[in-house]
Amino acid sequence: MSKATVLIVENEAIVAADLAGKLVRLGYEVAGEAARGEEAVALACRLRPNLVLMDISLPGPVDGIAATEAIRRQHDVPVIYLTAHADSATLARAKLTDPFGYILKPFEERELATQIELALYKHQADQQIRQQREWLRVTLTSIGDAVLATDNAGRITFASADSANSLGLLVQILGHEVRTAYDGPSALALAQAFRPEVVLLDIGMPGMNGYDVVRRLRQMPEVKDTLLVAQTGWGQEEDRQRTQEAGFDAHLTKPVDVAILKALLAEK
Ligand SMILES: [Mg+2]
Repeated sequence: MSKATVLIVENEAIVAADLAGKLVRLGYEVAGEAARGEEAVALACRLRPNLVLMDISLPGPVDGIAATEAIRRQHDVPVIYLTAHADSATLARAKLTDPFGYILKPFEERELATQIELALYKHQADQQIRQQREWLRVTLTSIGDAVLATDNAGRITFASADSANSLGLLVQILGHEVRTAYDGPSALALAQAFRPEVVLLDIGMPGMNGYDVVRRLRQMPEVKDTLLVAQTGWGQEEDRQRTQEAGFDAHLTKPVDVAILKALLAEK
């Protein structure tokens, strides 16, 4: 793993220099240093550190707590407070910003290391929990599709629009930018405008089907290097043969296997 990067926010130059030295000795990388709250917010946005060490009492209108509020509104980054004096009113205000740690000055190198490791670990665990919630949401959305599919009237339109949305969400969670089209003609228009690196194309669309769309896509200069992936419920050898002949680069059977999808997206 690469070194965790830390932004130091401390108005006393000697303390800041001491902190920087300790961090480097402990194996972290100092992403930057700020002496004022406004500067801390700007640097956190620009440098995207893995962690912020934030002095609470800073000169100027933005103290460490206000700076932390501003940073955390924009970025999901763990913050550890540093302070020389912890009165209960300050502590109460600090608590509201959901800090990952609180260190009283002066501090030992060992205490700093423990707090940083705990904060990084807790932050990662929090992110995993959020991710799992998001997966659960996607799963529940997919279950919604299946329920809709038992309903006969208008079922294809609903099911395909819904599964396009949940697949889109899944791809987005995997860290990619997504646009969604719900039929062949709009897929062609969107492909031209958005110039995607990957197209996940349903075969069984009403009207213009996936085979028709892929043949047209193959003639578009805008997507000449695009990975064209067929998505279908059919996974027999002859089905794979057919999508390949129509011009697809790959064939995904539904329900989409996340590991295979991830591998396909990683190719680009
Ligand atoms: Mg200070």
